[in-house]
Amino acid sequence: MKKAVFLDRDGTLNVDVGYPSRYDQIDIYPQSFEAVRKFNREGLLVVVVTNQSGVGRGLLTEDDLQDIHARLSAAFSRRDARLDAIYYCPHYVHSADRRYRKECDCRKPQPGLARRAAADLGIDLGSSYMIGDKTEDVLLGRTIGAVSVLVLTGSGRQSLSQLREQKINPSHVASDILEAADWILDEEKRRLR
Ligand SMILES: [Mg+2]
Ligand SMILES: [Zn+2]
Repeated sequence: MKKAVFLDRDGTLNVDVGYPSRYDQIDIYPQSFEAVRKFNREGLLVVVVTNQSGVGRGLLTEDDLQDIHARLSAAFSRRDARLDAIYYCPHYVHSADRRYRKECDCRKPQPGLARRAAADLGIDLGSSYMIGDKTEDVLLGRTIGAVSVLVLTGSGRQSLSQLREQKINPSHVASDILEAADWILDEEKRRLR
């Protein structure tokens, strides 16, 4: 069984601009490349899990989304960083398109995307990590028994206040994905001791 780092996309790996439909709207945080390289070197699978209800809302097609993800992966490859897989939820409960109109089990904080990745890639969820900027990311991490790290990029600061009101504590709060990576690598060392 492998360990994974589940990564949220918008607000964690790249700037959250709200429903981008083309790759040229994706602005990857510069520190994301080094963070992903560190996970790769540590032998942790890097799996992006992202809510993309823009598909269900008719703001982009699933082909547009797959094109964005292919280019995103290629951008990481060019920087010697590897995204092992990208899983997305295209659903929206009020979608006009019946293919996407459902109360699914994959929209974060529901654990469907992580569970699918675990089955496909042989991941032990309980020894894995979840990094994200929203409450739903922290809750997903908790549901699957992973260690949750909240990043303060994207919506991270608002999320931190919401989590405190709900008395939910992420395992760690990091300024950004690179600091989260450094903390996780230290945590891996602590676990091995
Ligand atoms: Mg996000
Ligand atoms: Zn879904």
